[in-house]
Amino acid sequence: MAIVSAEKFVQAARDNGYAVGGFNTNNLEWTQAILRAAEAKQAPVLIQTSMGAAKYMGGYKVCQALIANLVESMGITVPVAIHLDHGHYEDALECIEVGYTSIMFDGSHLPIEENLEKAKEVVALAHAKGVSVEAEVGTIGGEEDGIVGTGELAPVEDAKAMVETGIDFLAAGIGNIHGPYPENWTGLDLDHLKKLTEAVPGFPIVLHGGSGIPDEQIQEAIKLGVAKVNVNTESQIAFSNATRAFARAYDADEAGYDAKKLFDPRKFLADGMKAVQGAVEERIDVFGSANKA
Ligand SMILES: [Zn+2]
Repeated sequence: MAIVSAEKFVQAARDNGYAVGGFNTNNLEWTQAILRAAEAKQAPVLIQTSMGAAKYMGGYKVCQALIANLVESMGITVPVAIHLDHGHYEDALECIEVGYTSIMFDGSHLPIEENLEKAKEVVALAHAKGVSVEAEVGTIGGEEDGIVGTGELAPVEDAKAMVETGIDFLAAGIGNIHGPYPENWTGLDLDHLKKLTEAVPGFPIVLHGGSGIPDEQIQEAIKLGVAKVNVNTESQIAFSNATRAFARAYDADEAGYDAKKLFDPRKFLADGMKAVQGAVEERIDVFGSANKA
C-alpha cells in the first residue's frame, strides 16, 4: 500500500468512528520512529511537515524523498500520506509539485472570502494530481511571539462554505491550542463541534493541537466527527524527556559513558527515538486507528 493520498483513509475513519493521526516529523529518526509505530500498530498515518520543519530538513523535495524512500526501504505496508501542515498558498503548490500526497492550505489568517477563493484554487490543482486537501476556518489558539491566544471558534457558515470548495477534510477552531495547554484552559467546545458536524454531516473534521487535551475529550470529539488528530508537541516532549534522562544517567559516570561510546549519535539518540515511537503508538491506541490499515 505505502504512499497514498489521505482522503480515503480519513473518510473511512469518519465513517467508522475513529481518527487517524497526523504526526509531525522533524528529521530522519522521527520519520523512522513514526513509521515503526504505524507498522507495529497496523494503522494508517499521515506524516506531516510544517513549513518550518521542512525548511530545517532541507526543503520539501528532501522531505518527500526521505519519507517515500524510508517507506520503501523499511518495507512499510500500512497506508502513509506525506502531508504539509499549515501551508501557505505558495508552499501548498510547491508540495503538490514535488510529490506530497496531501496538503493543508491554511488561509485562516485571511478574510474568509479570500480563504475560500484560494482554497478552491488549491483544490483544483491538488485534485488534478490526486492530492488530498485540508483547509482551516476559525483559528487555532496557541503561543505566537509570546502571546497566548485562545483561538477563534469556527463560524458554522464558514465551515459549510469551506466544505463546498471541494476540500477533503476540515480543520476548525473549537477551543484547541497548539503547544502546551495553559492552566486556565476551559476545554474543547464540544457543543460547538456538534453544531459544526451537524452542518456538514459525515464530513471529516481535523483536530489540531491534540497534544495535551485529556484523552476523554479527544475521544468525545472523535465520536462527534473528528477523523484526524494532529500530534506534534507530545512527541517532542517524549523525545526531550528521554534524551535528558539518558544524559543525566551518565552525569557521574564520564568513564562509563566514554567506555560505551555513548557519544555516538546513534546511541545518544536511541532512547529519545524509542520514546517518540512509544508516544505515537500510544496516540494511535487512543484514537482507535490500530489495525485499521
Ligand atoms: Zn495545527
